[in-house]
Amino acid sequence: MKVYINGKYYEKDDAKVSVFDHGFLYGDGIFEGIRLYNKNVFRLPKHIDRLFRSARAIMLDMPWSKQEIIDAVCDACRVNNLTDAYIRLVVSRGKGKLGLSPFTCEDPQLVIIADQIQLYPQELYDNGLKAITVPTRRNSHAALPPMVKSLNYLNNILAKIEAQKQGFQECLLLNSEGYVAECSGDNIFIVFDGKLITPPVSCGSLGGITRMTTIELAKKLGIEVEEKPLARFDVWTADECFLTGTAAKIIPLVELDSRKIGDGRPGAVTKRLIDAFNEYAPTDGIRI
Ligand code: PMP
Repeated sequence: MKVYINGKYYEKDDAKVSVFDHGFLYGDGIFEGIRLYNKNVFRLPKHIDRLFRSARAIMLDMPWSKQEIIDAVCDACRVNNLTDAYIRLVVSRGKGKLGLSPFTCEDPQLVIIADQIQLYPQELYDNGLKAITVPTRRNSHAALPPMVKSLNYLNNILAKIEAQKQGFQECLLLNSEGYVAECSGDNIFIVFDGKLITPPVSCGSLGGITRMTTIELAKKLGIEVEEKPLARFDVWTADECFLTGTAAKIIPLVELDSRKIGDGRPGAVTKRLIDAFNEYAPTDGIRI
């Protein structure tokens, strides 16, 4: 595997950034997770737009144009001879002095790792995930805005630890008001009375690219979609539930907090959307 760092390629073991990089010292940076499906980089311009919005929010001046990054992502896939992959794009603040100030950092680092990913086994797509609500809350808008896809994932990591220590692979994070935000690295949807419902990003969820795609596909299939705040009650008593994310794609959630969702099996609307997504995803992307 060859890793892209600032325009050059390095073998996996030689792909390094400085220990003085503020991405390493303080988690000061941003990232994207992107998918290559059948040699098409899925919705790459949308990912790069989101990356640039994250950069603006943390006042990180990007020395590259959007097109240069798009070209670099496609090139990294070609160089690694990939057909299907998960691409991790990281922009760190760069090497600087000890101390929080980002203004001592000169060179932001652009790293592109294109590799395989299998987040969940097929069995969980067939039978669904089980999750619990964890004590750790989603970042508040008043602290680190949840729309920034930053290198600070510690609260998501704490949430994941809390779930895994209880024997669950996934968890639900509430926002500081107690409404449903999202899962540890995925957005959440429920189906109730035939309608698809997901919390608005104002509730603390990330504006997921898979979330947006799912909403578009549902509308095309004639399924009504609504964005509104959800409480745990709404998830417990939903007919169906599923999670969306670049790595997970669409995966059913069949139990939350020991309550079966619907009949405890992946539902019909969920299955329709999984099929629609799998059919659609390889057709929408930039050809490498
Ligand atoms: N929420 C969080 C916190 C995430 O990290 C991710 C995935 N990176 C998502 C939601 C899903 O977003 P996307 O569909 O763009 O991968």
